Amino acid sequence: MKYPEVRNYLAGDFVAGDHRYLDVSNPADGSVISRVPLSSRDDVDRAVAVARKAFPAWSALPIKERVQVFYRYRALLEENIEELTALVTEENGKVYAEAKAEILKSMELTEFACSLPQITAGEVLEVSRGVECRIERFPLGVVASIAPFNFPNMVPNWTIPNAIALGNCLILKPSELVPMSANRIAELLAEAGLPEGVFQVVHGGRDVVEAICDHSGIEAISFVGSTKIAKLVYRRGSANLKRVLALGGAKNHLIVMPDADPEMTSSNVVASMSGCAGQRCMAASVMVAVSNTDHIIQRMIDHAKTVVPGENLGPVISAEAKKRIERYITEAEEAGAKVLVDGRNTVVPGKERGFYIGPTIIDHVTPDMRIAQEEVFGPVIVIIRTSDLDQALAVENASPYGNAASVFTESGATARYVMERASAGMVGVNVGVPVPREPFSFGGWNESRFGVGDITGRGSIEFWTRSKKMTTKWNSEHGVNWMS
Ligand code: NAD
Repeated sequence: MKYPEVRNYLAGDFVAGDHRYLDVSNPADGSVISRVPLSSRDDVDRAVAVARKAFPAWSALPIKERVQVFYRYRALLEENIEELTALVTEENGKVYAEAKAEILKSMELTEFACSLPQITAGEVLEVSRGVECRIERFPLGVVASIAPFNFPNMVPNWTIPNAIALGNCLILKPSELVPMSANRIAELLAEAGLPEGVFQVVHGGRDVVEAICDHSGIEAISFVGSTKIAKLVYRRGSANLKRVLALGGAKNHLIVMPDADPEMTSSNVVASMSGCAGQRCMAASVMVAVSNTDHIIQRMIDHAKTVVPGENLGPVISAEAKKRIERYITEAEEAGAKVLVDGRNTVVPGKERGFYIGPTIIDHVTPDMRIAQEEVFGPVIVIIRTSDLDQALAVENASPYGNAASVFTESGATARYVMERASAGMVGVNVGVPVPREPFSFGGWNESRFGVGDITGRGSIEFWTRSKKMTTKWNSEHGVNWMS
């Protein structure tokens, strides 16, 4: 194995344990590069006990002191960017530019955490003579973050800097498919001066997640992953009276109008559906082509030819994912759709055992087909044709998901019409991947997010803290009203 076995990070140390293990593979060539422990309830118990001990001292520090760690952490992310990028590429398969973009985004997320002292200043008002009301925010205690495979560095950093800077102690459960970046994050946080026990990593799968949902010492859980598991975590965590924010899967629709700029639209749509091998929760999945957009579709075919597996297109995460995605394509074809660009049976010379699928464009898909309704999570876009904009919006609105939606048009009125009516938490105009950037929060609607609030930006402040309302009187006047 290229890397030593992955260990849990508890109380400031990487600790070995008596576990079952799972192989960790490099999706680009199928080679086994490490193995990850499938931890148990006992490991979660231990992490919670350590975190509860660390919490009083950490939460008692003024926030201006706590964020000093994150200034240093951000510098360390930058200093180690090449190594962190390589690690993401190795365990997730992303090509260099995509993996590096992930680390750059982690730096931006950390910058936001550094600004929290400025943003979280409380409110105060004299509400009656000599009587003052103020609101202050307090951390929750020990919290947990459960992450998916598709952003091994960035998604953990959606929660780590904010939750910890706001005074919580955080336990991370990374995806068992990509466990190595999380441990490197742990090392960098320690190097940045984070005290022992404030951040810990427990590796594993379902058992660890269930133990987190059940643990009475954990106050809040953030989850990012598929809708199926988001629902399980939301239900189980809430039933145990925890605060839960669970982000789920997606089926993002891009509405393309005939007046859209052909070059920008075709290149953006292809980049959105094929970037990170289509394994982004913000990836374009359905293009709703309104009226005559053949000239744009033709250009998309040309752009797809410049997306080359093994060069600027990475593999999907596993052999099973590749099989699943190819099955969706075949099923759509059998149901009467027309495959314009076919990424099935892709083999990259020298990486014959890699899990590659080429960019795939499928035309004349109808809304009743499975490929139009379910999350495919590969470099595949389906085209549904409609004769007018309201029909296109009806297709978008019918999806149970609601992460992102975009419209490509040169008309401001059309853009506004879609922004108001799309049933998604993040909407774009002439943007293929409408990810809000800090300080704007990230979070979808419908079955793409369960719980209240958003996971990053200002929205996360509400999630990771609770407010205390304080009423004080320091004068001795009497008889003005019931407060004095
Ligand atoms: P997943 O749901 O399979 O796994 C997510 C986490 O849940 C992992 O840590 C995994 O170990 C754990 N898990 C898996 N099965 C479980 C079970 N039965 N019980 C308890 N825990 C379980 O998701 P994934 O395949 O790792 O990631 C891809 C999915 O994540 C896609 O659906 C994608 O859209 C979604 N995603 C959403 C967002 C968003 O912001 N909405 C962001 C990134 C990824």
